[in-house]
Amino acid sequence: MVRAWATAEEKFMGGTCVNVGCIPKKLFVYASHYHEDFNESAGYGWQSEPASFNWQTLVANKDQEIARLNGIYEGLLDQAGVTHFTGRARIRDAHTIDIDGKRVTTDKILIATGGWPTKQDIPGAEHVITSNEVFYLKHLPKRALVLGGGYIAVEFAGIFAGLGVSTELAYRGPLFLRGFDEDVRIMVKDELLKKQIDLQFNATLASVQRNADGTLLATFSDGRTLETDLILTATGRKPAVDDLGLDTVNVAQRDNGAIIVDAFYQTTEPNIYALGDVIDRIQLTPVAIHEAMCFASTQFAGESKVMDYSGIATAVFCQPNIATVGLTEAEARAQYETIAVFRSEFRPLKHTLTGSAERSLMKLIVEVATDRVLGIHMVGAEAGEIIQGLAVAMKAGATKAVFDQTVGIHPTAAEEFVTMRSPVA
Ligand code: NDP
Repeated sequence: MVRAWATAEEKFMGGTCVNVGCIPKKLFVYASHYHEDFNESAGYGWQSEPASFNWQTLVANKDQEIARLNGIYEGLLDQAGVTHFTGRARIRDAHTIDIDGKRVTTDKILIATGGWPTKQDIPGAEHVITSNEVFYLKHLPKRALVLGGGYIAVEFAGIFAGLGVSTELAYRGPLFLRGFDEDVRIMVKDELLKKQIDLQFNATLASVQRNADGTLLATFSDGRTLETDLILTATGRKPAVDDLGLDTVNVAQRDNGAIIVDAFYQTTEPNIYALGDVIDRIQLTPVAIHEAMCFASTQFAGESKVMDYSGIATAVFCQPNIATVGLTEAEARAQYETIAVFRSEFRPLKHTLTGSAERSLMKLIVEVATDRVLGIHMVGAEAGEIIQGLAVAMKAGATKAVFDQTVGIHPTAAEEFVTMRSPVA
């Protein structure tokens, strides 16, 4: 049997992550962190002219790198013999797709359209930008208001502040980063405050007005107003299902539009499949990639592979970073009879000479009955790099005794994870 594959993409190859997500975001995080690095180097004897920053250079270099990645993605498809259609794909029936007027018929359809940022329905919402636009700003604003208390909000608050923008973050609840360990949330709040980010909790934006001089006036539901130059909303993403032609087929969706699939990513229309953010399980690139690998194995390699969604590590690239895997302390208390909590908070060695007041936090949650490590949490430099390795240990079922038997690498921050001996709770 001759098999033929094709993709349809209306914008740029690589999706959100490569173009308006993880990759350019991390480049911006690196850019913003140089500010502190330059200042802190004085403690190590370096002297230099005050550093200056050029936003246009950063954006141009970022664009060049993203274009290179787009090319690599296209090349990978070419090498795999995949036909690539550029245009908006709309399903016409279970075997027919319309791509900007061109009809394509197929045996199977896989929907991997991802997600799209949501915006509040408030007066003046047209003056508010999302993560889709923030990567292409012509000028870096002097002041910025970031709305939300999740991944994108805390990451961009850090990026703006690091680049010298006077930054306020407004979150609707009493403390941001809901779902993360309580100690982590408090620690990040304290660290962002040290970086002069103005945190406003219990704050809901009610309207936005553009002043005659181009500045923006944000009004909150409690009547407070704020003048700023840019408002970035980061209040979640919804499945990208609009105008896909789903009404022409029998594909069941959740109330938020997410496509409902079974363990093999099959929708209620037997030859249509979906995976990634459009099914709204866990909105992370590596999760979508893993789902895709399971799907490909099942469909084309004759092996039925079901993804294991447990123990997925994640990082938030706020400054300092958060990284975490497994249960929070509160989740572990709710699920297990007795847990032990090991916790270490300290000033990193590097900052003994920089004068920085930044601190790091490490936390292990252990089930007492089995000694199994249930959760690992960190706030600190390179937390993502450290937790990735520990996520392997947790996936392998490591007990606290295994952590204790592991000899540390000295002097590192990561060695704290194998030297915490006495539980704090
Ligand atoms: P998140 O789901 O992380 O956070 C959304 C935030 O917006 C929450 O604080 C939420 O508050 C708040 N919110 C939701 N609705 C409203 C509303 N109507 N009014 C005011 N506030 C609201 O979404 P993000 O947009 O930050 O990111 C989208 C997803 O992308 C993330 O969930 C993550 O999976 C992924 N991502 C991953 C990254 C990484 O791996 N480093 C980086 C960036 C994104 P509440 O908690 O009260 O509901």
